[in-house]
Amino acid sequence: MSLPAELEPIFDRFRAGFERGRLAHAYLLVGAPRGEGSAFAAEALALLFCTAPDGAKPCHACDGCRRADSGKHPDVLWVEPEMKSRIIGVDTVHEAMRMIAQTSFSGGWKACVIVGADRLGEPAANVFLKTIEEPPPRCLFLLLTDNPAGVLPTISSRCQQIGLSGDQVGLPEELREPLLNILGAAEESRGVVGAFSRAGNLLALLKNIHEDVEKEEAESYTPPPEMKRDESEKILNARIEARYRERRQLVLRALLLWYRDQMVLASGADAGLIHYADQRETLARQAAGLTWRKAVTQVKMVEEMQRQLDRNLPEDTVLNYGFARLMA
Ligand SMILES: [Zn+2]
Repeated sequence: MSLPAELEPIFDRFRAGFERGRLAHAYLLVGAPRGEGSAFAAEALALLFCTAPDGAKPCHACDGCRRADSGKHPDVLWVEPEMKSRIIGVDTVHEAMRMIAQTSFSGGWKACVIVGADRLGEPAANVFLKTIEEPPPRCLFLLLTDNPAGVLPTISSRCQQIGLSGDQVGLPEELREPLLNILGAAEESRGVVGAFSRAGNLLALLKNIHEDVEKEEAESYTPPPEMKRDESEKILNARIEARYRERRQLVLRALLLWYRDQMVLASGADAGLIHYADQRETLARQAAGLTWRKAVTQVKMVEEMQRQLDRNLPEDTVLNYGFARLMA
């Protein structure tokens, strides 16, 4: 496992803190939990458990590194949301905190990674809080989230925050262009026809994303040899769905920024504030005659679409209905 190049400078600062013995007890890593979040966490764990006598750490060759890299180090706990509810339950956290309080197997650090810190329900968060208020010595908590606003403030205030996606929008370049083509389409077909065409194109884009994620996850996931096939398929599918949701959220966020730009233009504010500066002409064309009030409503509609998707409403319903309202 290797760290993406853009995360290296951020990791260097983390490593410097580790070398000086000045790590915080808990970090909130803001980025896609199954993307840059996991990548950073994995590198941090290898660093913690690397037993190389000298040279650059983590070495990814020693026993400590290899166990950390395989995700099977006995002193590391990965806590994930339950597959169905996508919530991290109180029992899971109870058990994790009990294990974290025990002596380390390797005689050194212990670590706990929480994948989706915004998925801690309140009872679970309270159990967790007790531990991070008085953390055991040599114990590191890594909390992963792409939704820092969704993490309970009692928890986030006890963590040192590290932003991993430099630009919090983080829409990959290969998605930016097709999305802008959809949003910037000429306006001759407003109303229902235009709405269905946009929703249809966006659904097609999401379908492509899903297929890419399926491929990537299938390539990167190797189940332990003793695992039953249907069990490993279940895990693979859960990983695919989780990763896909993260990407979909990025698309929705990019969509939100598009309508927020229109709001900026409708308010008459400095056009230097818009996000899609290179799309200014198209945005201005779409925002022509737009009242401030309508522009705000549009932004709220996109937020509503995101919430509906989060609640597992069918994508085609959400997008067709959402765009019909947006383009009415
Ligand atoms: Zn090592």
